[in-house]
Amino acid sequence: MALWLSGIGVSRGIGIGRVQRLYGGDLEIPEYTLPDDQVEAEVQRFDRARARAREQLEAVRKGIPARAASEIAAFIDTHLLMLEDRTLTLAVPAQIRDTRCNAEAALKRQRDTLVAVFEQMDDPYLRARKDDVTQVASRVLRILLKQDKPLPTSTEASAGSGPLIIVAEDVTAADLILLSQQGAAGFITEYGGPLSHSAILARSLSIPAIVGAHGVRRLLHEGETVIVDGDKGHAIADPDQKALIHYRTRQEEQAADRAALASLRNTPAVSRDGVKIHLLANIEQPEDAADAAQLGAEGVGLYRTEFLFMNRRDSPDEDEQYEAYAKVVSSVQGPITIRTLDLGADKQIQSGRASTVSNPALGLRSIRLCLKNQTLFRTQVRALLRASVHGDLRIMLPMISNVGEFRQAQAIIRYARAQLHHAGVQVSEKIPIGAMIEVPAAALAAPWLARHAAFFSIGTNDLIQYTLAIDRVDDEVNYLYDPLHPAVLSLIRMTIDAGHKAGIPVAMCGEMAGDPRYTRLLLGLGLTEFSMHPANVLEVKRNVLGADISALHTQAAAVFEAPDMNELRERLRQIA
Ligand code: PEP
Ligand code: MG
Repeated sequence: MALWLSGIGVSRGIGIGRVQRLYGGDLEIPEYTLPDDQVEAEVQRFDRARARAREQLEAVRKGIPARAASEIAAFIDTHLLMLEDRTLTLAVPAQIRDTRCNAEAALKRQRDTLVAVFEQMDDPYLRARKDDVTQVASRVLRILLKQDKPLPTSTEASAGSGPLIIVAEDVTAADLILLSQQGAAGFITEYGGPLSHSAILARSLSIPAIVGAHGVRRLLHEGETVIVDGDKGHAIADPDQKALIHYRTRQEEQAADRAALASLRNTPAVSRDGVKIHLLANIEQPEDAADAAQLGAEGVGLYRTEFLFMNRRDSPDEDEQYEAYAKVVSSVQGPITIRTLDLGADKQIQSGRASTVSNPALGLRSIRLCLKNQTLFRTQVRALLRASVHGDLRIMLPMISNVGEFRQAQAIIRYARAQLHHAGVQVSEKIPIGAMIEVPAAALAAPWLARHAAFFSIGTNDLIQYTLAIDRVDDEVNYLYDPLHPAVLSLIRMTIDAGHKAGIPVAMCGEMAGDPRYTRLLLGLGLTEFSMHPANVLEVKRNVLGADISALHTQAAAVFEAPDMNELRERLRQIA
């Protein structure tokens, strides 16, 4: 009998195949005390396991498909770096020597300590990096326990043919690549969130995936047929003939659709009634800009510079930052919007200590941190200003919550410009400085902010988090994350209207901008600049090409006139 399971769809598409458990189950970690004379041999056993883990990761890195975004290689590099970090290379042997415990137990303890540190961090990206620690530790643990074959070839299920749907507690980025090379047609995991590396990778490799499907390992049997619906976030095990035919048809339609989309790459994004819409890319690494252009983006609407600061002990200095920014600015044909640092409680993060504040998402993060730690900010600003001569650079300030903050940052940028000028360093004459609107207060104060900002960019990921009071990385409250909540829509509308009244461009760079389900609504609200993961550009473009924007304006206005929530939902449904 068919069984339905729900989770969070993090990578769209339909996958159909046989259930294959990853590694065949949980790791049981033995703990025992060693005789004195075996302690050094145990340290060597740990070092050998680490070396083997490095070999495995290097092999994965070599096998990364060319079409995969550069972020994939960066994920593997992150794991390689962690393997060489003293938090493993020194701390685990010290633990073995100090307590005479076995290598597995020492590694497990060290992993738990590091995970606890990452869990305290306020920046969601950095907090999600605890997954990396867990994954790197698990890789070494599996080697120590001789359980390091991702797919046991001897099982009945893996001996058969046809696509596999990987069912796991969680999937590491490295395993995801490996398994995609082995033909995995989908993933279902018990844990994980839409911002995890694995979720980003699954999207980048276009493999349907569902995370947060609690109990999936217990409920699904090895070898049985399962359908993964990454669009809706559910899985159907042991489907009947009717369901299979329905999903196979959808799969074929999606394949045909992808082929049709590819033909839109060079088509300008102009609506049926002649409105030009700008479709830009969100990138995390300088190298991603070229891939984004390949996928039809006209420029970069958000470059998240914090990735440059991660997984290292020290901050990159001005020259290193300049090199990175100059590279990205000169490689983009159109405009390039670089966001200044959006880190959490920065010093603590970089030195690996936990944040001690109780509400880190509301604490000293992002622009607040930059205004407090002005050396950090000035260094970045100088590097950005120097890079401006290489292209059409815009600077974007994150997490602005009041006009004073924006003006203070503007003044620092002005001062840095004057200093560079004085030193004879060239800086582009005109560099627009804009504000991210991702805090409700900024949306509400948008008319005042618009007098100072050269542009707005709406960061819906945080705007939704702060408006609806839900932690965006907490899967317990994920169900409340609703871009269509009338409070969120009102703030988006207010921001767009305030920008238009002041005559400044308004973009959106949160995930909502790249979700084709919302394109028509956002066009109706007057949005003309969308910045998103490059993989979504063509689908959004197709919606733009088919849209009559003046009709959508009327429809969107009617949403806000709805007399009750049922009618509001109905009007939203009609516009979608
Ligand atoms: C946002 O908050 O919508 C955004 C684009 O920024 P980030 O996801 O990096 O916080
Ligand atoms: Mg944000």
